[in-house]
Amino acid sequence: MAFALALATLTAGCGVFRPKSRRSSPTPHGNFHAPAQPGYGAQPGYGAPLPPSGAGAAQSKLAGPRWMAVPPTNLLLDPRWGPTLTDIAQRKPPRETGHWDDPATSAHELSHSIHFELRLLSSTDRKRNGFYVPGGRAAIVDEPAIRKSDVAAWVPPSLRGSRYDHYLAGKPGWDARPLYVWDEWNAYVNGAAVAIERYELGLELHPENQRSDRVHAALEFTVYATALMLAVAQRDSGAFARDPQLAAFFAFNAERAMQVWNRGAGLPPFRWDDGPRLIGALRGSADAEALRAQVRALYGPAWTQRVFGF
Ligand SMILES: [Zn+2]
Repeated sequence: MAFALALATLTAGCGVFRPKSRRSSPTPHGNFHAPAQPGYGAQPGYGAPLPPSGAGAAQSKLAGPRWMAVPPTNLLLDPRWGPTLTDIAQRKPPRETGHWDDPATSAHELSHSIHFELRLLSSTDRKRNGFYVPGGRAAIVDEPAIRKSDVAAWVPPSLRGSRYDHYLAGKPGWDARPLYVWDEWNAYVNGAAVAIERYELGLELHPENQRSDRVHAALEFTVYATALMLAVAQRDSGAFARDPQLAAFFAFNAERAMQVWNRGAGLPPFRWDDGPRLIGALRGSADAEALRAQVRALYGPAWTQRVFGF
């Protein structure tokens, strides 16, 4: 309880807010139960930095982000979930009371819930956002001095998918928090990872001829996450030096996202009609050349070719 009060104070002090429309699609369900264990505040080590995963203090863009440890908040266990959903569900913040019918939606929404806690904890002196990666770790990133609407403007028309209007052009309440785009990106990648794993493990049956765009969404949001890098380069290029986490986490998570997409996009339940067009446009459309050039400028042609195929 003391922890919740402390966070409430933080909320009032730094202007962090939670969007009212965060849960637009999921339906209520009883998959999750009240946490049996105390919350983050009682967990020794929460917020402690993990040792650098790269080459020491001289962290390069490709050496990996600096990780924060995110220990479990509970010991929820259900063999029907699969390991990745279990990992995420065991980090469910104590204050989260939502329930979602669909396991991949649970992974997505619980990722948002964890991000919310990370945002509160880390935004003490300036605005930051946090991104949970299964395996008990999160990266904290300073918000760059751009608007979310700047990100929307830098998404080439050929790369605007079905979620563009809702998340990029819409959601004006997040305009001063451009890393909201990465909040969604990471939630979609975690959700896609859970959906693929559950299919591969035979934990979820997909009716024949019924397709889900969960895996496609990970690619669509990788495009938008990349547009943020272009917007930052155009409008606040000093952000890369102010916080190396910005470029380091993008590199890590873009690679993770593309691995998830490559693993799942060809599986029968996740084949999506717009997929070949979107990846083709990302790799070759004329209006996306600035986006591709920016990624190459930041990470070099070898990494860019290996991860994105352009
Ligand atoms: Zn979401």
